[in-house]
Amino acid sequence: MSKLILVPTPIGNLKDITFRALEALENADLILAEDTRQASKLLNHFNIKTPLQSHHMFNEHKSVESICNKLLSGQTIALVSDAGTPGISDPGFLLVRSCLEKEIAVETLPGPTALIPALVNSGLPSDRFCFEGFLPQKKGRNKRLSGLEEETRTMIFYESPYRLVRALREMSEHFGPEREACVSRELSKIYEENVRGTLSFLAGYYTDKPPKGEIVIVVSGKKL
Ligand code: SAM
Repeated sequence: MSKLILVPTPIGNLKDITFRALEALENADLILAEDTRQASKLLNHFNIKTPLQSHHMFNEHKSVESICNKLLSGQTIALVSDAGTPGISDPGFLLVRSCLEKEIAVETLPGPTALIPALVNSGLPSDRFCFEGFLPQKKGRNKRLSGLEEETRTMIFYESPYRLVRALREMSEHFGPEREACVSRELSKIYEENVRGTLSFLAGYYTDKPPKGEIVIVVSGKKL
């Protein structure tokens, strides 16, 4: 039976690909990729020859209909993003929703994503947490942080290295400078770094040592 399969791909270490991910990519009729050049590197490495088609945030609204038609005609289609799990701060949601509306089967494979290792590695409570993704860059940023001031669950944010210090300072203003947090940088890569401490310590640390690479910020919830 045809279906849409969401296939997580490594966030830095190719060894994190799963056997099922490789099987799904190999057996699909078509792979939709956020960036076909990026996906080609992965597919070439594993010698997978499945045809590729671009599917990113700038064309997904337009292409969803034709993709659904391909699925309805019997094709099995895999969706990958540049790294990690599609649909998590990456394209995927729109296509999944359209498929489900049309009763097309959808399967998401378990696999790499940045938020889970960052959360577990932070040492902050992982029994209850909320994923906030990227904060809005301009409008709505302050409002989003204000809305989280009473949040008691551990909070997870994705952030660019260029905005890390600003984000830590803003969080310090909203949540208090003594709130515990952890910055995970370059997870699963050679220069992986996890720095734990208060928001004010972390803001100072990264002011002195401007960060490079990909970043997850994990912040303790408000203590009751
Ligand atoms: N779909 C991905 C996932 O499942 O995690 C997220 C894609 S989002 C466009 C990219 C962001 O994820 C980065 O800016 C960073 O915040 C986080 N990220 C991805 N890879 C990472 C890594 N190796 N180390 C730390 N953060 C990472």
